[in-house]
Amino acid sequence: MELLVINAAQVRQLLPMAACMDEMASALRALGRGEMQNPLRTFTWLPDRRGLLAAMPAIAPEVMGIKVISVMPDNMATEYESHMGAVMLFETTHGQPLALIDAGEITTIRTAAVSGVATRLLAREDANDLAILGTGAQAVSHLEAMLVARPIKRVRVWSRHADNRAKFATHVQTRFGVTVELTETAQQAVTGADIICTTTSSTQPILKGEWLSAGAHLNVVGASTAQAREVDTATMLKASLFADRRESVLNEAGDFLIPKQEGVIDNSHIRGELGEIMLGQIKGRQSPTEITLFKSLGLAVEDLVSAHYIYQQAIQHKMGTAVEFGSTRH
Ligand code: NDP
Repeated sequence: MELLVINAAQVRQLLPMAACMDEMASALRALGRGEMQNPLRTFTWLPDRRGLLAAMPAIAPEVMGIKVISVMPDNMATEYESHMGAVMLFETTHGQPLALIDAGEITTIRTAAVSGVATRLLAREDANDLAILGTGAQAVSHLEAMLVARPIKRVRVWSRHADNRAKFATHVQTRFGVTVELTETAQQAVTGADIICTTTSSTQPILKGEWLSAGAHLNVVGASTAQAREVDTATMLKASLFADRRESVLNEAGDFLIPKQEGVIDNSHIRGELGEIMLGQIKGRQSPTEITLFKSLGLAVEDLVSAHYIYQQAIQHKMGTAVEFGSTRH
């Protein structure tokens, strides 16, 4: 038996942002129709809580798989990415392993692609003024996704360190030909913005509700545990909340759970899931002045569907490295 190994550079080639957005839209619709299994992920923390190992299994009709990924927030100051690991893809007839694919790059692309889907569904049609908080891997991929989702005319970016901001500006100028305005404060970045993406490793609010303009759409991406949040209670109160999956928000989203513990919102604050909007079961934005907020937690089905797409493309384009793996019955 052979296993196809696909590295990060190959993932970038085989999973373009626009294609990934289409794949993520169909994955979220399939999840909404109940065709996918996506148990809650497990986090196992290092003893000193500097980082963790996450395991994210999922099953679709034709394939199943698991993402295993380390999350090390302090890596921003090193040569290493903060998310590293692999997605292992299996077929569902005999359970044969098919591929081992770089998960850092899948995570970077698919997370932004889902925010792109959310932005297409929820942002105003004329939204063109973008703010990004954070200058790491997710900030770069979110810029790419927002450029696909809406006709962006202005981009402002903030993170705490000026050198990170400068590196981001140079990188996206080279990669996308986009000039960004770098700001000293988060408030300067978001004032008057139509679309705001929060993509930091912060565990405390970096975005305040009082800074938001009527009609803004927010993709709130960076915090993925019940104890951490990027947006304050006022932001959550002002916004109509949409989820990748309700169950994940109820268990994993400090952005939602902390205001809930404060007693200012309850579970009915979640308007619904992106899949439900696409299936016509709930309405998305209801007025040009409504503030919409997509809370992204990241789902195993997003990794699985991305991995399956990459695998099929790799077979078609004869890419990846096949290695002998496992054995058949004698
Ligand atoms: P990176 O390490 O590449 O970037 C982290 C960014 O956060 C940097 O811009 C850093 O810039 C900023 N930052 C770090 N600490 C703070 C702080 N205390 N306050 C404000 N800004 C801070 O990480 P990624 O881009 O890969 O991931 C960003 C976040 O998104 C992580 O928390 C990650 O777990 C999460 N994530 C969520 C996913 C989802 O599906 N929802 C999927 C993947 C990641 P500076 O130091 O200059 O402030």
